[in-house]
Amino acid sequence: MQFSQLGLSAPLLKAVTALGYTTPSPIQEQAIPVILSGKDVLAAAQTGTGKTAGFALPIMEKLAASNKPRGNSVRALILTPTRELAAQVEDNIRGFNQFLNLKSTVVFGGVGINPQMKRLRGGSDILVATPGRLLDLYQQNAVKFDQLEVLVLDEADRMLDMGFIHDIKRVLKLLPAKRQNLMFSATFNPTVTALAESITQSPVKISV
Ligand code: AMP
Repeated sequence: MQFSQLGLSAPLLKAVTALGYTTPSPIQEQAIPVILSGKDVLAAAQTGTGKTAGFALPIMEKLAASNKPRGNSVRALILTPTRELAAQVEDNIRGFNQFLNLKSTVVFGGVGINPQMKRLRGGSDILVATPGRLLDLYQQNAVKFDQLEVLVLDEADRMLDMGFIHDIKRVLKLLPAKRQNLMFSATFNPTVTALAESITQSPVKISV
């Protein structure tokens, strides 16, 4: 299987080549076409499997084909458990964006909120966030979800282990009901499964 067979267009194909990716990993082969089709996805995948490109590339393909965000709105929201993962995911997105012009933003706690508020002004195509800081920014009217099209929960099991369930539920209440939901988790215990059932609708299940 080649990247060119997955439904991605030239700017993203050029970017993956520039990054030295030669062939898609199993999670990428399975997730990219399904995400492009608009379905919800529930994926069991560890770090190191290429899961970030597995969700970021199809999201970017879809966003690049449609309108820009307005106001302080966000079109794709990626929630991660830690600031390190948030920064790493956004770094990957910047690499994939080198021949596109999408705006990505990353926000997490433990650093000043004002630069993040400034960065969110004018909207973002993709926002990578840890849950607590995202809620703080929402309370300060720095971010809006009226144009949200896609939600990703990355490392959902770790988010639950770290006690983010209430923050995640608070975020979910702020999002439009009609949206695409993608959930990635290394493990699926009953708590993760319950969260998956409450978030996704008839998801395509992927396991690598
Ligand atoms: P992830 O599981 O998303 O954290 O990715 C693990 C590492 O593999 C990252 O450094 C990616 O840049 C790299 N990677 C992801 N997909 C591919 C691919 N298809 N070919 C080569 N490297 C990749």
